[in-house]
This record gives sequence, structure tokens and C-alpha cells, in this order.
Amino acid sequence: MGIIVSKFGGSSTANAQSLKRIDCLVRASPARRCVVLSAPGIDESHSEKVTAMLERCWNTRKNPAALAHAVSAVMNRFRDLCAGLAISDMTDLVERTVYDAVAISLPHTLSRGEYLCALAFSKYARLPMADAAGLIAFNTDGTLDEDRTRRNLGRLAKSDTPVVVPGFYGAAPDGSIRILPRNGSDITGALAAAGMDADLYENWSDVPGVMTADPALVPNARLIPHIGYRQMRALARAGARVLHPACLDPVAMAGIPTRLRNTMDPDSFGTLIDERCEVTVRCVAGQPNAFLPDRRQACRITVFAVPFDRVLDAAGPMAPLGTIAKKEQTVVYFSQERYAEALRYLHRVLIEEAG
Ligand code: ASP
Repeated sequence: MGIIVSKFGGSSTANAQSLKRIDCLVRASPARRCVVLSAPGIDESHSEKVTAMLERCWNTRKNPAALAHAVSAVMNRFRDLCAGLAISDMTDLVERTVYDAVAISLPHTLSRGEYLCALAFSKYARLPMADAAGLIAFNTDGTLDEDRTRRNLGRLAKSDTPVVVPGFYGAAPDGSIRILPRNGSDITGALAAAGMDADLYENWSDVPGVMTADPALVPNARLIPHIGYRQMRALARAGARVLHPACLDPVAMAGIPTRLRNTMDPDSFGTLIDERCEVTVRCVAGQPNAFLPDRRQACRITVFAVPFDRVLDAAGPMAPLGTIAKKEQTVVYFSQERYAEALRYLHRVLIEEAG
């Protein structure tokens, strides 16, 4: 039987109900042998990610009253989580962990959301937890020690029981906690998949998969069921936030497909990212507030796999500030205030009307 590494983002770990859902998914397939978790994120009842709450603990560390307030917010969050999961209360442990962390470093403090979440889930699911400090190995200069990381993670493949791994952090040779970039649990999952020589990397979140454009701004955006790594990399770098761009290389290089799935709709296919996918997908991604070297206030919109002349056609009121044809994509610039309008326009002209 193959090995699946399943990473669950903060929207999928936000509350007890979502963690129970993860437990069901893990039990549904014996191939799911590694469960990588983000810190609890935002949901209908929580407007702040645990990582942001921990950042506040760090920022208030020199003001005892403000720190106590910030720490108690984290304690409350985990108190609710433990109560909802009917596991023994972790409030004292959370308090000690956060106070100790703010006395150590910012990375240590930020990493505790993933650590505590993985701990709570492993208790609930009765699965072993492997601390990422012993798996994701950093060099002293802060770069990733890829060989040691691969060897450490490879050992997880020997266990028949699914292992719970906190995302986002690792440790340097002296044991100090180091973190990956923000939203870096995606990278932990990809490293685990590569290290365990997995057959599939599943990335679960609250979105259906890769869309032809940001669905929050483009209501007609469609789901893309298959996309190649090359195009996905370009899309992620251009601003599509479905996946951290740095998580693509470890899996692509190991020839492991990545499947984006929606925790709220586990029966839907999602998006499969595969090296073997040759199809060029029409999609639009961009980043508001991106600076151009020569136009400090301009935003950037990147259009992929779009015939260049179609973009040049865009005359009249929606004429772009500029267009640059690159090897694998066409980059179109609009002014910052027109970001949403331009994205909708490009999607309509280049995707909807093009069929
Ligand atoms: N919790 C971390 C962050 O907020 C990492 C992650 O969610 O992947 O950036």
C-alpha cells in the first residue's frame, strides 16, 4: 500500500469539530501515514490565528499585564479545543509553554501553535506525535539541512501507525527552534512527503482547489482539476495563495503528485498537481500592492498561458499600464486601485469568453 502525507491548514485545525474531521479522514485511509498540522486558524468563532496570538505574546513580553492578557487568550483557545475534544485540559501546559517560549525567541514563540495543536490532536486521535524539532533540520545559518531532514523524515516511513507532525518549524544543531516562512506548514508537508518517499502529498484546506482566479474577487472562477508543477509554481509565485510556492520543489523533484483538497467537502476531487500534466491551463493570478521598479504605486497582475495578442487587444477603458511577454507567461500591469476590476476583466476576456 502506498504512503500519503496529509497536511491540514489552519482553517482545518481551527476548532474541535475540524480536528475530529481530520481524525475521521486519517482513519478512512490506512495509507495516510503522516499528518502534518498547522496551528489553529480562523473560523466563524475565531477571528485570529493562534500564530498571530502568539506573535502578540512576543510583542508584549516586556509588559507583564499585556503579556498575561495575550497568554490567557491562547490558553482560552486551547481550553475550548480540549473541552470540545473531551481530552484532558492543557491550559497549564499552554501557559508554561508560552511563557517559556517568549523568554527564548520569536521563532520558538511562533512555533508553539503548531506544537500544541499537534499535541492536542495526537492525544485525541491516540496517535504518536513526532516533534518537528527532531525532523526538520536547519543549519546554524538558518538554511535548511536538506540531507539531515530527508534522513529524519525517512524514518517515519518505517512506522505503520500514522504519525502526527507539527508543521512550520524545526531546529538548528544547537536545538534552537527555527521556523520556515509564514504559512510554511505546506513546506513541512512537502518535505515529509519527499522524505518518506510518499506516493501522494495531500494538502487540505478550506478551498476547493486551484481556481482560474481568486474566487473571492471573481465569482465565475472555475476549479482547475489538473495542473502541472511548472505552471503551479508560476501561479503560486504570482500571488495565488492556495499553496506556499516553496512547497512545490521538494515534491516535484521527488516526482510526487500533490492533491489539494477541501476538508469541508472531502468527496470532491480538488486539484491534482502532477509533473505529468502537460495541459496548459488558462488562469489569472496577481498580487495587489506589488511594487514595480519603475512605478512605485502600481500593482502587478500576472496572466498565464494567455496568447499575447489577446492581452494587447485590451484597449479602451481597461487598457493595462503595460504588458511583458515572458517565457511561460504574460505579465500585465494595472494600477493598484484597479486590482479587483482588472482581475475580473482579464478573467472575463481571457478565460470566460475564450471558452
Ligand atoms: N501557523 C503558521 C503561520 O501562520 C504556519 C502555517 O500556518 O502554515 O504562518
